[in-house]
Amino acid sequence: MLRHVVLDGLSQKDRLIGRTERGLRLPRVQFLYIHHSFTDELDALRRLVEDLSHTHAFIPYSEGVTRVQEGRIDRPYICLSSDDGFRNNLDGARVLRELGVSACFFINPALIGLNDEMENARLCADRFHLPPVRFLDRKEVEELVSLGHEIGSHSWEHHRMSALPYEAMVEDIQRTRETLLRWLGRADHFAFPYGRFADLTASGYRAVFAAGHVSCATAERGCHANTRPIPADHLLIRRDHIILDWPLAHIRYFLGTNAMNGSADHNPYCAAP
Ligand SMILES: [Zn+2]
Repeated sequence: MLRHVVLDGLSQKDRLIGRTERGLRLPRVQFLYIHHSFTDELDALRRLVEDLSHTHAFIPYSEGVTRVQEGRIDRPYICLSSDDGFRNNLDGARVLRELGVSACFFINPALIGLNDEMENARLCADRFHLPPVRFLDRKEVEELVSLGHEIGSHSWEHHRMSALPYEAMVEDIQRTRETLLRWLGRADHFAFPYGRFADLTASGYRAVFAAGHVSCATAERGCHANTRPIPADHLLIRRDHIILDWPLAHIRYFLGTNAMNGSADHNPYCAAP
């Protein structure tokens, strides 16, 4: 409640001086991610895309990654993604398809098609701090692809990568990519569970690229505004978390602030471990 009131105040004050508006119009690639799109959140998803479309081009995740790697950022862009592979992602994916937007869904192959209720309850509590939630199955993952979306790796079964012994971590990263390649023929992008810089070690970061991925994403807030190329394996993609029932003004405030804090010459949001 307090957070809500404070953000209301900040987003209001900010709007008055036009900072949010100016920020939203700055050239950059803003990556966003959600975890769920429940039925009662689908209208909010539609409103969010429609609102941000006034100032941004929504582009596929792969295109956003390439633009950042090449420093080819000539206007405001947004790339959408979603982590964890919950079944309700499919409803959001269908809405995005209607709106002509492609997103990247980061999934854990071990959880796809999980039928065992006890195991589902255990994993949801242990890995996601959630009551039991249904995960996508193989057919639904294929439907995401047929809707024009991309599938990325979120590790085998959502372990904290930095907590695994080195060999187990490397095997987890490789096994996940090989499985997605077998299922879908593509597995270019990696986003590690929990997503704080500390949740992936420097050796884990190197293992992501050694396994053949072309990008590695965090859940650290920020955007990318570089005008010079960044080698693929020197880039950690920043992403902002969005919960669809947040007020639009708050989301705009966050994104405007990200943009004002980044710049073409010095982008504090690009980091290499
Ligand atoms: Zn996750």
